[in-house]
Amino acid sequence: MKKAHVPGFRKAQVELEHCSTCKGKAVVQGVSYELVCIDCNGSGWVMAGSRMVLASDELVTQLSFKLQQAQREIEVLKRGPSITGPAAYYQQNNRRGAGGSNYTGD
Ligand SMILES: [Zn+2]
Repeated sequence: MKKAHVPGFRKAQVELEHCSTCKGKAVVQGVSYELVCIDCNGSGWVMAGSRMVLASDELVTQLSFKLQQAQREIEVLKRGPSITGPAAYYQQNNRRGAGGSNYTGD
């Protein structure tokens, strides 16, 4: 099993794709239980193109980048379609009023 290091680009985001062995699930079905997929270091992700597995330390950072990216996308989706102008302002306010439960927390 090759472990890819990214020399000189340690803080750069690496393009990732789903591991083909576990289909991105990070685990594979063993005989009676699920096993951590060794082809992707139990992450479900491999480097796009080369399909090499990232070393654990590298993986943590890359998954963090990916998670941050996903969270940004979720935030954008939560805000809904980007409408500009007074209509957008009205709709946002309206939603905030109707969806007040979002802000009460637990
Ligand atoms: Zn895998």
